[in-house]
Amino acid sequence: MEKKVAMVAVNLALQLTRGRDPETSGRFRVNCVRCSPCDSNCTPSRKPEKQKDIDLNSVLGYCELCGECNRVCPAMLPIMEAIDDAKNGGLRAIGTLYESCSGCGRCMEVCPVGVPILDIIRESRGETPERFLIRAGRGPVQDIEIRRVGAPIVFGDIPGVISLAGCSNYPSGERDVQIIAEEFLKRGYIVLAAGCAAMDIALTHDDEGKTLYEKYPGDFDRGGLLNLGPCVGNSHAIGSAIKIANIFARVPMKGNTVEIADYILNRIGVCVIGWGAMSQKAFAIVTGANRWGIPVVLGPHASKYRRLYLGESSPRVIRDKSDDSMVPSEPAPPHLTYAAESINECLVMASKMCIRPNDTPRGRMVKLSNYVDLHLKYYGDLPADIDLFVRNEREIPYKHKDDILEILRKKNWKPREPVKEPTIIR
Ligand code: SF4
Ligand code: SF4
Ligand code: SF4
Repeated sequence: MEKKVAMVAVNLALQLTRGRDPETSGRFRVNCVRCSPCDSNCTPSRKPEKQKDIDLNSVLGYCELCGECNRVCPAMLPIMEAIDDAKNGGLRAIGTLYESCSGCGRCMEVCPVGVPILDIIRESRGETPERFLIRAGRGPVQDIEIRRVGAPIVFGDIPGVISLAGCSNYPSGERDVQIIAEEFLKRGYIVLAAGCAAMDIALTHDDEGKTLYEKYPGDFDRGGLLNLGPCVGNSHAIGSAIKIANIFARVPMKGNTVEIADYILNRIGVCVIGWGAMSQKAFAIVTGANRWGIPVVLGPHASKYRRLYLGESSPRVIRDKSDDSMVPSEPAPPHLTYAAESINECLVMASKMCIRPNDTPRGRMVKLSNYVDLHLKYYGDLPADIDLFVRNEREIPYKHKDDILEILRKKNWKPREPVKEPTIIR
């Protein structure tokens, strides 16, 4: 009986605190529940903006410290311990959960007494200046844009296209995705974002209060940041690679998946990053990218999908379509699906995933400069596998030439010619 009264009281508090009026439910961008059917059946938010105040003391009092919320939390947050602290007046621990909480709502679904955990987390976070300036979801990359950048992408002058796919189960909160996007934007990569990743980029401001959408242009060109739209907009990232093959290289489109996927795999430096992937839709996006020859770097939680496509870090042999010969090549891209354990590993691996056998010597040097710089920045040393990717001395990044030459000497490296028309089709 006592439990039933508690549930009624808590549910009343929930109804008071979680607005369900049409105005609130229509505010898609701040109200995303990270649920999956965001394209057609968007549901109201479980991780809302501050709405009405809740009486923390009364709702915290109902928590029985059963630990069910901890058990189901996909981000493995110490919710019960934080609530226990909050019961004793310490709100800091529960307030800090906000950054890492994806708003999935599983904790509230299993709570036997209906504690409004998300509302408590949001309430405990306190007042923060919130201004989420986001570039509008724009849909597909246009043919005219592809004509402009097809050549620099295929030859490697633009070091790569990084596509940030949802969802939002980031290991260390929303700032992760902003760090990844900015690291590549300032290096001249084109960064595409869709779904929760596109929204979460807008949640972090620099010292001047600007988001990345205010700092980088929205063109499909060097250093551009594009919001492709909701998570189904990830198809436009794959579509841009297909269009490069078809419009720039004139690979026939109709009924020709194999040749287009082969062209993307060997010539277009594009990499999908699913840093917070958690939904089945995210898994479908990753699978779709793989089927079109696009390599993917996933976050650590994605190991739960139990499927990776890993390559060997050793030289490969590839077919040169120009004379139908088999020639030595590099492990590029090194993997098709890879789960990174840390943001450092994700950044370094994504830069390596953009290397392609088709790179011109100049393009390869640009890509290797980024790979080497990121390796030095995040691991503190030069990559040990650099000899696999340098085909001749012109491709060695100028800044670190002496050190890299030393590694090449030790590994008994021999120069070789780039493959003219790489393919894995026999
Ligand atoms: S990106 Fe993932 S979490 Fe976000 S709305 Fe889409 S499926 Fe849901
Ligand atoms: S809503 Fe947040 S705290 Fe609750 S289970 Fe999901 S990630 Fe964990
Ligand atoms: S599931 Fe509910 S009652 Fe159990 S520890 Fe979490 S908040 Fe408390």
